[in-house]
Amino acid sequence: MEQLRRDCLDPPIHLNGRDLCLSAKFGIAMHPEDGATAAMLLERAESALKRAKAGNEKFLFYREEMTARAAAVLELGNRLRQALELGQFELYYQPKCAVRGHAVVGVEALLRWHCPGQGMVPPAQFVPMLEELGLIAEVGDWVLRQAARDYQRWRSAGLPAPRIAVNVSPLQLQRPDFVQSLVEALAMNPQDAGIDIEIVESRLMRDIDSGVVTLREVRALGIGIALDDFGTGYSSLAYLAQLPVQTLKIDQSFVSRMLDEKEAMTLVEMIISLAHSMGLETVAEGVETEQQAQILEELGCDALQGYWLSRPMPADALAARLVGGTALAGLSAGP
Ligand code: C2E
Ligand code: MG
Ligand code: MG
Repeated sequence: MEQLRRDCLDPPIHLNGRDLCLSAKFGIAMHPEDGATAAMLLERAESALKRAKAGNEKFLFYREEMTARAAAVLELGNRLRQALELGQFELYYQPKCAVRGHAVVGVEALLRWHCPGQGMVPPAQFVPMLEELGLIAEVGDWVLRQAARDYQRWRSAGLPAPRIAVNVSPLQLQRPDFVQSLVEALAMNPQDAGIDIEIVESRLMRDIDSGVVTLREVRALGIGIALDDFGTGYSSLAYLAQLPVQTLKIDQSFVSRMLDEKEAMTLVEMIISLAHSMGLETVAEGVETEQQAQILEELGCDALQGYWLSRPMPADALAARLVGGTALAGLSAGP
């Protein structure tokens, strides 16, 4: 197979004086063990191809568990397609607090799916599927609108509503109508929509050039931009300087390891000093202990987010806490 690939695909194709190089991945099903009909063989070869595309393999032979996985994925996809219509999504909110005094400086909106029969499904289990199914734009729009509605509701109730940061998938950002959909979602109060966005650093970097252009348009709307899970990607400093971002969110893997591993501590220190030297703010993610909070304060981190201060909670639970003022200290209760 490797030989065939090399013979057929490695030599460049000469076209109009240029050399074009092809790349290809293969899914392979064998007759008769994988299927008796052409349709069955094709279907199984496609299952193998899908797995090859998702991983690093150039080619994969069909195995039985691929069909089982494909059936589970199909079933999950069907449920997700209906979830929006059936009102099964909900936004939870997690406060971000100033490192000193713990005043709430913002909240992050985190998507939850109440899947019948499965309970509450965390986003890591279904956001990648929304992306794969092409549903992320529609659901992402709902998230933006719901966050804007909640913000306005808190304001109308006279609460000190904190700005809401919404996670945006890079696939949403790549859509030509993304900025327009943002404008529409925030139209109910364009002067004070109270919405910011977060984008995972490593994923933004994969398509940075068009990302920068869109992010500049987003910023021009008065929306703040944070780079999420910062430190896990490989941002070049040159790109970072070009990005219209205001905040770096230090990835929780560094925060959780920094007290035990010198390298993690050094990274956290470096991210904070890099951010400050570029005029950016830092938020530490996944702060679970007082000790971590103290060290982060000593290192000059600007804000903290994590279970030590508060777990993510439904909109009404957050509103009830806002009634009591905007400082949270060691409030780790919540769903
Ligand atoms: P993220 O944006 O980095 O969000 C922080 C995640 O860390 C959340 O997980 C939060 O519940 C969790 N977390 C907060 N504090 C702590 C802590 O002290 N310890 C630990 N171990 N975890 C903590 P969650 O809600 O499961 O979300 C996971 C990821 O899913 C998010 O990571 C974000 O990338 C993505 N996501 C969530 N909502 C949306 C959405 O509406 N749209 C998109 N595109 N992605 C979303
Ligand atoms: Mg986030
Ligand atoms: Mg994060």
